[in-house]
Amino acid sequence: CGIVGYVGNPERTASHGALEVIIEGLRRLEYRGYDSAGIAVVTGDGVDSRKKAGKLANLIANLEEDPLPQSVTGIGHTRWATHGGPTDLNAHPHKADNGNLALIHNGIIENFAELKALLLSEGVEFLSDTDTEVAAALLGSVYRGAGQGDLTRSMELTARQLEGAFTLLAVHADHPGVVVAARRNSPLVLGLGDGENFLGSDVSGFIDFTRRAVELGQDQIVTITPENHSITDFFGNPAEGKEFSVDWDA
Ligand code: GLU
Repeated sequence: CGIVGYVGNPERTASHGALEVIIEGLRRLEYRGYDSAGIAVVTGDGVDSRKKAGKLANLIANLEEDPLPQSVTGIGHTRWATHGGPTDLNAHPHKADNGNLALIHNGIIENFAELKALLLSEGVEFLSDTDTEVAAALLGSVYRGAGQGDLTRSMELTARQLEGAFTLLAVHADHPGVVVAARRNSPLVLGLGDGENFLGSDVSGFIDFTRRAVELGQDQIVTITPENHSITDFFGNPAEGKEFSVDWDA
C-alpha cells in the first residue's frame, strides 16, 4: 500500500543510510493504512530483507534487536493484503533469483494464476500466497533469460506480461546502487536529491529529504542511481514524467 525506494551515495549522504530514509518514508505513508511492513537493502554482499505482519513499530523493534547491514540502496513497503492473509511470509519484499532479487508491489496482478502455473511448471518454488511473489519470480526468470542480467530491460519485459494495477520496485544483488520501478494503474513519484534519489507511492515517502518531484506517467519504467534517473515506456523508448515542486508543509 505504501512504497519507498532509495539510492544514496556513501560520500554524499553520510548522515543517513537506506534504513533510516526508508523507515522515515514508511512512517509518513502510514496514514494510507496497512497490515504488514518490510524492507530490503543491497550491499556488496547481496540483498538482505526483513518483513513483519502488524504495525511498522513491530518491524522497527525487530530491526533494533537484529539490524540489517548498513547500506545506501533499498526498498520498503507497507502492505494492505489482497491475495494471501496478513502474515510474515506474505509481507513484502518477495525474493527471487536465489535470493538475489527483492521486489515490492502495490496493487493487484490480475493474471497471477496463469503466470504462477507456468512458473510452477518450470520448477519455480513459491513461499507465499501472494500475487506479488509471482511478479518477483517472473522478473527473476526473465533476468536469467531474455533480460540477460539487465535489471531495467528485465523489468520492461516483465511489466509487459502483467495485467492489472501495479507499482513494482526491485533491487538486485548484481546492481548495488540501483532501484528499478514500473507502474501501471497505480501511482509512483520520483524524488530528486543531490547525490541521492527517491521513489514513493506518493511524495510523503520522501518529503523529509527533497521537494523536487517527478510524477511518472502510465506504463512507465524508472531506474534510479545516486546521480541519475532514466524513464522509459515498457518497450524501452525514452519517456518523460511531470516535474513539480512540493510546496505543502509536511
Ligand atoms: N496484492 C498484493 C498483496 O496482497 C499487494 C497489496 C498492496 O498493495 O499492499 O500482497
